[in-house]
Amino acid sequence: GFKCGIVGLPNVGKSTLFNALLSTMQAEAANYPFCTIEPNLGRVQVPDDRLQKLAAIAGSATIIPTQLEFVDIAGLVRGASKGEGLGNKFLSHIREVDAILYVLRCFEDGDIVHVENNIDPLRDAEIVETELMLADLESVEKRLPPLQKRAKGGDVEAIEQVTVMERVLKAVAEGKPARSIEIKNASEKKALEMLHLLTSKPILFICNVDEGSAATGNSLSAKVEEMAKKRNAPCVVISARIEAEISMLQSDQEKKEFLDSLGLPETGLSRIIKAGYSLLDLVTYFTVGPKEARAWTIPIGTTAPQAAGVIHTDFERGFIRAETIAYPDYVEHNGESGTKKAGKFRLEGKEYIVQDGDVLHFRFNV
Ligand code: GDP
Repeated sequence: GFKCGIVGLPNVGKSTLFNALLSTMQAEAANYPFCTIEPNLGRVQVPDDRLQKLAAIAGSATIIPTQLEFVDIAGLVRGASKGEGLGNKFLSHIREVDAILYVLRCFEDGDIVHVENNIDPLRDAEIVETELMLADLESVEKRLPPLQKRAKGGDVEAIEQVTVMERVLKAVAEGKPARSIEIKNASEKKALEMLHLLTSKPILFICNVDEGSAATGNSLSAKVEEMAKKRNAPCVVISARIEAEISMLQSDQEKKEFLDSLGLPETGLSRIIKAGYSLLDLVTYFTVGPKEARAWTIPIGTTAPQAAGVIHTDFERGFIRAETIAYPDYVEHNGESGTKKAGKFRLEGKEYIVQDGDVLHFRFNV
């Protein structure tokens, strides 16, 4: 599955958010640093209105949304790249995620200590990113010399890797993350991916504001939003405490009433899940029938047989064709038979790149 790692300094509200995210209020959000030691992993359903619509049209008995994994990664502190706090552990856990969600404390509360003693989300973001950049610096410096040797010997792949690594070193020396470097073509993109750097992963900023500012944000979250905009990174404002309260409500009706009373159109969690999903360059396709309507997740650029393989390896191996209907056509023509009559039903072959929203039915040999 695809994983989003939740990171941030201690006591910024990560566990509160994570627990709300999983609707489990078990893990205690204790009021001291280093309280979360092992990363917690949880799966959440990705809300997608299209799936409800398809199910309604096809009369599907059940609806199965696609899922996203969230990992709560223990408190990073200044000096983590040198092994301070839970440093090394933190770095190895973060290496395994596909995207990083920075939780930044944007609430004042004298009773809850901040490891840096005062509230300053921009500084906090910088501390976290600096530790990640230092870790990247170390890993590139370690790997560079042998590659330089191969590059001198004329190894084309090594030459490309060295070029990309030198660009990363230059960026990091200027205090910029690896994701900011210029990528000129697909093979350079691959070379960067092969480095598995921490600061080349996509990021989302999450501002955790006080309960009263959940709908409006506050002056601290405004600063983060401005910074995120400059860096072309998405930013979501939430109140972890409120999300925790909402997640404890039993019925959808109660949840809706509570959200309405706060002036919120949807939960912060739902916005985080959607934003996390869109960070990952993923595509959703659907399988729809009377039994179930289901959403499946694949990376952008996945071919039809590979997409079939997500359901079952037999589907990929024996792939013949994919019966394909674009989502808007399915809705406009009220299902499969209507779409066929309208001439919008397609049979796609092995080379077809699955598009977001495709409704697919695979034909295959067993
Ligand atoms: P973590 O160390 O980042 O995982 O932080 P926790 O989720 O354990 O939160 C640390 C403390 O801050 C707990 O006592 C939370 O109840 C509290 N906290 C989290 N979010 C908020 C918030 O929005 N407002 C206030 N006042 N306290 C919060």
